[in-house]
Amino acid sequence: MGRYVGPKCRQCRREGLKLMLKGARCETAKCPIERQWRNFPPGQHSWRRGRGSEYSLRLREKQKVKRYYGVYESQFMKYFGEAVKGTGNTGATLLSMLERRLDNVIYKLGLAPSRAGARVAIAHGHFHVNGRRTSVPGYLVRVGDKITVRDSEKSRKLVRGHLEELGEPHLQNWMKLDMVKLEGEIVAVPTREDVMIPVEENRIVELCSR
Ligand code: SF4
Repeated sequence: MGRYVGPKCRQCRREGLKLMLKGARCETAKCPIERQWRNFPPGQHSWRRGRGSEYSLRLREKQKVKRYYGVYESQFMKYFGEAVKGTGNTGATLLSMLERRLDNVIYKLGLAPSRAGARVAIAHGHFHVNGRRTSVPGYLVRVGDKITVRDSEKSRKLVRGHLEELGEPHLQNWMKLDMVKLEGEIVAVPTREDVMIPVEENRIVELCSR
C-alpha cells in the first residue's frame, strides 16, 4: 500500500483548515494555518483558483476527510460501501466508522501524539485490544472494547511521555481513560457530533454514489 511521505502541512493548506497531522506542533504558532503569510493553498498559482465546480467542492470534502483520518482511496471506498449497506444516514455512518478506527481512538485517548504516530505505535505492537495484541490501525472498535498498553517498560514509557506532554486529555463522551492503568474503554458509538472538523458529508455521499 502506498504511503504519503510529502509535507503534512501542505495537506492542511490545501484544505484550508487544521487537520492536526503533526501532534503538539499543530497547537503552536508555527502552524502555517495560524500564520497569515502562509495560510493559502499550495502551488505557484493557487491565488488564481476561484470557486471550483460542484465536482471539485465534493472532491475537496472527500479529500479533507481522507487526509484527516489518514486513509487511502481504497480503504475509504470500503468504508463507504459498508456505510451504504447500513440502515442509517450514509454520511453519518461513514464518519462514525472512521471515528472508530483504532488509530483515531488511540490519538483521541491521548496515548499517541497524532493519528500517524498512533499508526506506527500500533504497528509496533504497543497496544492491545481486549487483551490481545493488534497491529491493525484500521481495526474498528466496538462498545465495550478495552484498549491497553503492552505490559512492557518501553511501551509504558512511550505512552506516559505522550500523556505528560499533552497534560489532561480532552476525552469525548464515547470513551473513558484510566490514567493510572493506561487503559481506555469504548462506552458508546461515536456520533456525527463527535467529528471535530467541519465537513459536509452529504457532498461526499453525492460524489461516491455516482
Ligand atoms: Fe501543519 Fe499541524 Fe498546522 Fe496542519 S495543523 S498545518 S499539520 S502544524
